[in-house]
Amino acid sequence: MDNDVVKLSQAADYAARQHSAQRRKGARAEPYVNHLTEVAAMLAEATDGADPVLVMGGLLHDTLEDTDATYEDLVARFGPEVAALVAEVTDDKSLPKDVRKRLQIEKTPSKSRRAKLLKIADKTSNLQSLMHSPPAGWTEERLRDYVVWAADVVRSCRGLNAKLEARFDAAYDTARRRFGA
Ligand code: ZN
Repeated sequence: MDNDVVKLSQAADYAARQHSAQRRKGARAEPYVNHLTEVAAMLAEATDGADPVLVMGGLLHDTLEDTDATYEDLVARFGPEVAALVAEVTDDKSLPKDVRKRLQIEKTPSKSRRAKLLKIADKTSNLQSLMHSPPAGWTEERLRDYVVWAADVVRSCRGLNAKLEARFDAAYDTARRRFGA
């Protein structure tokens, strides 16, 4: 791999371009890339910068699911390890939403260490944004269901990184109290 700083900068640039037309679901409609940089920063901090592949995976984790990027694009630009990690955390969008959510709970236990860390950071970011910018039209029940589901997915990711788990738990506790889950 080329210099890590170069690769990381290219991953941030590519993610920002690929998601440039997308906004977060929340009422504040923040640029989607804010979610990606938040996840990447959380992963970098939790691993003290020791795992550039993981941080690149954080930046790129929604490119296959939500943009026209292909697996081959990711291999060519960022190498097979990063591409495989992104593929591991990508849902099959041809399936109905409720099935995809159930599969995340069922399949996460058999995922790689990096994929599990990415899941924790992703769910933490999502809980934080539900709290400071809940999506318009989401009922209390839907918010509660999301909080419970996020904890179900993260349950099988524990025991790998205490710092990241603590951040999830803090977001989860606040969300649980806020939405009564
Ligand atoms: Zn995400």
